[in-house]
Amino acid sequence: MSTPHDAIEPLHALVVAAHPDDAEAWIGGTILTLTSAGKRVGVLDCTRGEMGTRGDAATRAAECERASAILGLAWRGNLERPDARLLDDDALRDDLARWICRLRPAVLFSPHPRDRHPDHVAAGLAARAAWQRAGLARWAAGEGLAAHRPPRRFETMGHLPFEPSLVVDTTDVHERKLDALRAYASQHTPRDPSDDGRHQLAPGGLLDRVDVRDRWFGGLIGARTGEPLFHDGPLPADASWFG
Ligand SMILES: [Zn+2]
Repeated sequence: MSTPHDAIEPLHALVVAAHPDDAEAWIGGTILTLTSAGKRVGVLDCTRGEMGTRGDAATRAAECERASAILGLAWRGNLERPDARLLDDDALRDDLARWICRLRPAVLFSPHPRDRHPDHVAAGLAARAAWQRAGLARWAAGEGLAAHRPPRRFETMGHLPFEPSLVVDTTDVHERKLDALRAYASQHTPRDPSDDGRHQLAPGGLLDRVDVRDRWFGGLIGARTGEPLFHDGPLPADASWFG
């Protein structure tokens, strides 16, 4: 992991997420597919999830470190914005754009802004705007940075479904993805007998929901498991896409 002011080798992919464990749940298989192929992947979390009903921030930070190691991340950062009060404001857009310019990823992943959790909505909208901002030479020069707009940007599925633009085959890494999610042990442990984890925001246990969902999307592409991604507008194709 890097501290904010280290000189950082560019990443192949950067994942923006609202809370620790979001990246693991929604795109952990895609991350593992990339890191297994030797690609440098980083995750930038906007909050530490300190308002979560289960666990506390210190426990979650230690769990996050274990999960990052399982995913094989080259870098993980946290903007330390207030959990459950994340706002898509100009400061968040600037912060995200600065990290995009510093980390120079070829691919940006961020939450689809249609979601039941307001923090996911805020992170998703801010990331869309930051992607555009990071490519503005005049803005970047004012920040002492070189402009960089990742050539590809995809959105990840949170609590609500969308029609995917593509599904990543995660069959070979699915168990490791679940291990990364299990590293957040406090999130899978009821705080008392009344806490069954069922509410409208996130009905049922996270591990089960993620497992079932990945099997469903995998089935759509003839794979055991898969993760859905949304691309804003048509994906360009050339002869290589047709095999
Ligand atoms: Zn979340």
